[in-house]
Amino acid sequence: MHTTDSKDYMEEKPVRICKQCLLRDLAAEDQKDLQKYLAVIKPQDRASEALYEERLAVCRACEKLSEATCEACGCYVEIRAYVAANRCPKKKW
Ligand code: SF4
Repeated sequence: MHTTDSKDYMEEKPVRICKQCLLRDLAAEDQKDLQKYLAVIKPQDRASEALYEERLAVCRACEKLSEATCEACGCYVEIRAYVAANRCPKKKW
């Protein structure tokens, strides 16, 4: 994973920001929250597993991804990509 260091001047310690992480790569607590969000999306509204993974692969390679969030729309990409009718704000998927 590629990370970028920046400085938190309030506490004088480096803050590591992962530019390619999804929620599934982060702490177990974040993953539990993700599963709760995904569970409320109706099955008929969900993207297929193949489409979902294809979309997430595009997001992982995108310069707009920062700590699982799309900087173009502010969404967690795993939630945005999960809904079949959703589109990438930059038209990448
Ligand atoms: S939704 Fe689109 S713009 Fe946002 S991170 Fe994914 S590919 Fe990039």
